[in-house]
Amino acid sequence: MKHSSLKPLDEALAELLAHASPLDGGETVDSFEADGRVLLADAVSALQVPPQDNSAMDGYALRCADVAAPGALLPVSQRIPAGSVGHALQPGTAARIFTGAPVPPGADAVVMQEDCEVVEDGTVRVNAAPQAGQNIRRAGEDIALGATVLAAGTRLTPAALGLAASIGLAQLPVARRPRVALFSTGDELVMPGQVPPAQMKPGSIYNSNRFVLRAMLQRLGCEVTDLGIVPDRLEATVDALRQAAAGHDLILTSGGVSVGEEDHVKPAVQSLGSLDLWLIAMKPGKPFAYGRVGGAHFIGLPGNPVSSLVTFAVLVRPFLLRLQGMHDVAPKTIAATAAFTWPRADKRREFLRVRLNAEGRLERYANQGSGVLTSTVWGDGLVDVAPGQTIAPGDTVRFIPFAELL
Ligand code: AMP
Ligand code: MG
Repeated sequence: MKHSSLKPLDEALAELLAHASPLDGGETVDSFEADGRVLLADAVSALQVPPQDNSAMDGYALRCADVAAPGALLPVSQRIPAGSVGHALQPGTAARIFTGAPVPPGADAVVMQEDCEVVEDGTVRVNAAPQAGQNIRRAGEDIALGATVLAAGTRLTPAALGLAASIGLAQLPVARRPRVALFSTGDELVMPGQVPPAQMKPGSIYNSNRFVLRAMLQRLGCEVTDLGIVPDRLEATVDALRQAAAGHDLILTSGGVSVGEEDHVKPAVQSLGSLDLWLIAMKPGKPFAYGRVGGAHFIGLPGNPVSSLVTFAVLVRPFLLRLQGMHDVAPKTIAATAAFTWPRADKRREFLRVRLNAEGRLERYANQGSGVLTSTVWGDGLVDVAPGQTIAPGDTVRFIPFAELL
């Protein structure tokens, strides 16, 4: 296959996303269960946050006009702990106040207790000249009444759940979980736990993709039906696909998508539905299949462990997020400085496994082979190398942290 027939990654991603219409239906879930889910409706605030002007410090609420100079003595006229409400401040007095308590009407500053001294019963010496507004958190400074705090299509993080809670939401409408059927192909595959390392037959390897893919799917909010390992036979592959098509939104496979005679995924999918086999101009990666079997999407990933992880991260992840209604599915990239050399330009776009060193520069894992899974654990992310690009130490490169991909 000539390089000219390879499909650019951006084109493959755009085509894939064009198939990712949002799933029908959603559900309202308890916020405690909503981490990682995609919000289906705007979260709009029915109050302002904070609800009232309140103190940012433990100290004394007062009127600046009553402290002409440091050292002023003021009688303490009330005490306002968090959770209670004081009354209008009498001119010429101070209110003992605690963090989070509403600032009483009439007070225009809070002086922190470290700058005050209790001199005798009920009187405080204010040792610092206050500025108007000092140590007061203004009503609505975080959230205005009617503000949209989270837009539909946002993927919920712990911080987002906190923000929703701060406007009183205990339940959230989210996209339903994509139902994904997963299987691995390959007669060489053995499940860890079934055969101990010392008894592995020559030619066998442990099935690692199953663990990587299942965990990545779960992190993306999917409900996974794991169909295990399917032998390298056409009928077995067809049977597995037929079973997988029922009741699933996506069938995801690894291995067997090349066009060797042991690669049965392509003919099996074609016998039941439709399939496009793409040779994507990316490394690791290259063979990648998209199709339909019955009502389900089909995606076939390459078998090499790093290829399968990287193609999942850059193609399947955005696809699954789009199915859940998320808009902005592109990972954030960071301009970072390389501390390594990448002297050989490739016609394909490359994703190098790299790590941030103590100086904040990127080091490259020595062996970038598509079977070298160690690189993915050693690394902090990927450098996205354009076709034809070489890299020398000091060059600015596009870094995608694994936090954006996994
Ligand atoms: P394939 O895409 O089926 O031609 O497989 C390419 C390479 O990936 C071969 O070396 C396979 O042994 C390896 N491989 C395929 N599936 C897995 C898997 N589930 N876990 C680990 N390695 C795999
Ligand atoms: Mg295979």
